Amino acid sequence: MKVTIVGCAGSFPGPDSPASCYLLEAEGFRLLLDFGSGSLGALQRHTGLYDVDAVCLSHLHADHCLDLCAYHVVRTYSPDGPLPKVPVHAPADASRRLNAAYAMPDEPVMERSFDFVRLQPGTRRIGPFEVVAAPMNHPVETYGFRVSHGGRSVAYSADTGESAELVTLARDVDLLLCEASFVEGPGERPDIHLTGRQAAEHAARAGARSLVLTHLVPWYDPERVLADAATGGYRGRTELARSGAVYDLG
Ligand SMILES: [Zn+2]
Ligand SMILES: [Zn+2]
Repeated sequence: MKVTIVGCAGSFPGPDSPASCYLLEAEGFRLLLDFGSGSLGALQRHTGLYDVDAVCLSHLHADHCLDLCAYHVVRTYSPDGPLPKVPVHAPADASRRLNAAYAMPDEPVMERSFDFVRLQPGTRRIGPFEVVAAPMNHPVETYGFRVSHGGRSVAYSADTGESAELVTLARDVDLLLCEASFVEGPGERPDIHLTGRQAAEHAARAGARSLVLTHLVPWYDPERVLADAATGGYRGRTELARSGAVYDLG
């Protein structure tokens, strides 16, 4: 399984990265985890414009889903289109919300390009991948994912505050993509996002083999997030996410 970080900027695109989007590939199948603002552009550096086979949306905040609207244009109106529908595994109300973002809420326009499949906690098969979805600790319906193939696994926290579910989801994974949106200090708000320290604590509790800190919000110095993570008691390899980084898990 190959994991490519397409976008890792938290909450909005930054100068060096789009918002959340991760490309997972195995056996020629391409699965996107999230499709945040600006990610369709950078995605084309890593795969053909028409080559997305399935999408999982963790939640419906704009920085995780909005480029599905742009990808609808690609699938339906490109000179080679219309192209076959792509399954989109997403929380409740995704089609209505994305139709509203694209055009009108009650016009099923996005359904020309996508088959919306309701996410629920549990395990499903998507192409060659086994995908486990688990509810995270965020103000809206949000799922973290564990994706496995060929004995390798990656977990993605999506957006979350502290979460026992995340520890379970990431148990012994090869790679944990964990959000670290906040920095340590006064004024922290619980149940929305994690700091680097909290991300490292979750990685340690889960026994994750490596940790990539992601959903990095451009108004913070990422080195401060990394320094926070060093205080979390995690001994595995820890690094900052970077748009374009590739992890070949074998
Ligand atoms: Zn977010
Ligand atoms: Zn969010």
